[in-house]
Amino acid sequence: MVKKLERVKSTDGSSKYLFNDGKSEKGNFEAIYFYPVDGVPESSICMSTQVGCGVGCAFCATGKLGLNRNLKSTEILETIAKILEEEKKSGENIRNFTSVALMGMGEPLHNYEEVRDFYHQAIKMLPITHFSLSTSGVPENIIKLADDDTKYDLFFSLHSPFNEERSRLVPINKRYALEEVLSACKYYYEKKQKNVIGKKIKASYLLLKDLNDSDEHLQQLIKILDKDIFKVQILLYNENEKLPFKRPSMERAKKFENKLKENGLEATISISKGQDIAGACGQMAGKNRKQEEEEER
Ligand code: SF4
Repeated sequence: MVKKLERVKSTDGSSKYLFNDGKSEKGNFEAIYFYPVDGVPESSICMSTQVGCGVGCAFCATGKLGLNRNLKSTEILETIAKILEEEKKSGENIRNFTSVALMGMGEPLHNYEEVRDFYHQAIKMLPITHFSLSTSGVPENIIKLADDDTKYDLFFSLHSPFNEERSRLVPINKRYALEEVLSACKYYYEKKQKNVIGKKIKASYLLLKDLNDSDEHLQQLIKILDKDIFKVQILLYNENEKLPFKRPSMERAKKFENKLKENGLEATISISKGQDIAGACGQMAGKNRKQEEEEER
């Protein structure tokens, strides 16, 4: 049985939860509840699919933990139910809860059967109308997902258009080169994203100052991304003092976005919520507030 260890409120209104899987002290995982905001009247939950993660992305706090275990579909559902119960208890309005993003700790496509099962159970039990997941790029399971009877809006964590550099940032790229993942995404788009989901695949691009924000990167992105299939979601890196990466200026991010748009690619800048509570993209480390504060000292 999963156990809630902590709920921390962000100044932007989101709440970060720390859970334990009830199996070991190392079984901590996180989830975030996002409230409706202007322009987005629905609330949503960003949920983990694994305890830790074996992909080991260079910029990600979860990746430093390694993989502990896969979460079961029942544990994912139980966690969501617990969050909704907690939010209700706190007097929050959960009426517009309609969306779950499997974008917390873990690589969802390394836990394929449970992620599939979760979808089927959740549509029967919860008022969710939008399911999404983000993958670092597991081509055979992107293809499997395309042929399966689920409806996941797909996000692909791209982060670099060059194989060599991407292998350093997202080590799974050593196993599956970009060309192979992009071709699996194309298959997913044709089979599912275009008609069933009705949206383009989002290519997430974590902009890292002086690393992947150059004009060469822009040119290569324009070259490899099919504008009919992908929309680029630019994310600004959330700095972590233990990691060497830097957050680029908003001005640079805007230029990057505009250049992509000028070349026909849809692009948006996404600002992660929950940064002050270490709940934003790449910040989840399965620790409670006290542990985080002690480590900061
Ligand atoms: S970014 Fe995602 S896939 Fe990469 S290590 Fe972190 S949780 Fe795993």
